[in-house]
Amino acid sequence: ASEAEQDDLVIIGGGVAGYVAAIKAGQEGMKVTCIEKRGTLGGTCLNVGCIPSKALLNNSHLYHQIRHDTKNRGIEVGDVKLNLGQMMKAKDTAVSGLTKGIEFLFKKNNVRYIKGTAAFADEHTVKVNLSEGGEETVMGKNFIIATGSEATPFKGLEIDEKRIVTSTGAIALEKVPEKMIVIGGGIIGLEMGSVWSRLGAKVTVVEFLGQIGGPGMDNEIAKAAQKILKKQGIDFKLNTKVMGGDVTSDKISLQVEAAKGGKEETLDADVVLVAIGRRPYTAGLGLENIGLETDDKGRLVIDSEYRTKLPHIRVIGDCTFGPMLAHKAEEEAVAAVEYIQKGHGHVNYGAIPSVMYTHPEVAWVGQNEQEVKESGVKYKVGTFPFSANSRAKTNMDSEGMVKMIADEETDRILGIHIIGPNAGELIAEGTLAIEYGASSEDVGRTSHAHPTLSEAFKEAAMATYGKAIHY
Ligand code: FAD
Ligand code: NAD
Repeated sequence: ASEAEQDDLVIIGGGVAGYVAAIKAGQEGMKVTCIEKRGTLGGTCLNVGCIPSKALLNNSHLYHQIRHDTKNRGIEVGDVKLNLGQMMKAKDTAVSGLTKGIEFLFKKNNVRYIKGTAAFADEHTVKVNLSEGGEETVMGKNFIIATGSEATPFKGLEIDEKRIVTSTGAIALEKVPEKMIVIGGGIIGLEMGSVWSRLGAKVTVVEFLGQIGGPGMDNEIAKAAQKILKKQGIDFKLNTKVMGGDVTSDKISLQVEAAKGGKEETLDADVVLVAIGRRPYTAGLGLENIGLETDDKGRLVIDSEYRTKLPHIRVIGDCTFGPMLAHKAEEEAVAAVEYIQKGHGHVNYGAIPSVMYTHPEVAWVGQNEQEVKESGVKYKVGTFPFSANSRAKTNMDSEGMVKMIADEETDRILGIHIIGPNAGELIAEGTLAIEYGASSEDVGRTSHAHPTLSEAFKEAAMATYGKAIHY
């Protein structure tokens, strides 16, 4: 094909990675096409991930709080009833508003949006199987593959998204299960487990490792989180393997076994959530037609500028290396387009925050204490409990703490770990501090408004290089 027939950039996948790259390319004046097969933009995050789960987390928290935590605040409420259908509708409204918003942004930034499934025919051509029928050929000078990820299946348990569910079924259950088993005590398991536990299900989390929270969470914080979630009614079976399951018309029985020692037990449930991680999704992409391969984890292999071995084809987001997080995908999208357009881009992988949206939230950025210890660097730790923070006290929401880890010699902040109210918002300050190479003293000598939760952050910094005032 002649160059004139080729778009400057063709993006496969309209999830966070793909749509952000498309908007950025449009802003840069590139002729850009984004192909998405789902029927709506926003990918996993907006349609079945971040957004619907947070809608349910927020409203289930409100429901739970109104039922259990009003009297001592001087609020007397009458009968509190759950209207699950309406709660689901509120979630759907958030999702549809946001996905349509991206379509609007596509129009505003001259992005051509094609609804369909793309597969490479050759190195500069994709064939799109159009959602409305028929086929279209799209040619490009550059490509970005942003096809995302899917739930890792559990061998022996067939997902029907009704009784044996991934997160996709777990955000759309039609009634509150009496008993729910969650396989995997990572972020999805704890967020969705919290939702259904608050709405009345008896939730048991079965985790293979000796600790909840999934990869990255600081041990001390994970222990604190488990204690608080247990108090909220979630049961935990750590160091436990699921060996298999029997599904009958009225219940699901799971055989579990202690990871060491082999003690066996059978657990019953109405709904089982499989949340043992996600894996890259590249099926049907025609990679074989262009000679691209994935590694043993299914990830497309790239260099530091997101290039595959075909340098005009780049890969970003969940289908390649790094944490499977929407904001990581977003950073990569902007950087990848900048590499194409300007020859340079930037993502600081050492400053990507993680947030678990339970109550209280857990958030962290940088290295956890186990990692710092392993690296051999001499370090110091400062902590500050929310029980000594005035705002948390007035809000009657004071469980948790801020923990800061800094280099003992240079005082440079290495990691920040928060469990507590609004931890997900507070961590932004920590991310900025790490991005700017701040020392704990830089933060501790910065004025923070009173009374705010952010003062706990400042005081943890003070406790790192010296002493906190209020604890
Ligand atoms: P995706 O969002 O998966 O998008 C890929 C898109 O490509 C899909 O829409 C797919 O239909 C499309 N596609 C695939 N193949 C083709 C093809 N051949 N042709 C056309 N289109 C194709 N992350 C956070 O940061 N914060 C959170 O709170 C959070 N919550 C989550 C909650 C849940 C329940 C789940 C499952 C995930 C959550 N995540 C969260 C992770 C987040 O959703 C992902 O990291 C993010 O969606 C990755 O974006 P992506 O664009 O790489 O992939
Ligand atoms: P995860 O990797 O966070 O946790 C999976 C957990 O399952 C781990 O603790 C692991 O030890 C355990 N596990 C694995 N195999 C097991 C087995 N056979 N039996 C019992 N336990 C087992 O994965 P996830 O919770 O499924 O989430 C998937 C991805 O989605 C993650 O990358 C996560 O970052 C992302 N996500 C992010 C958010 C957020 O940012 N708030 C929310 C949801 C999902």
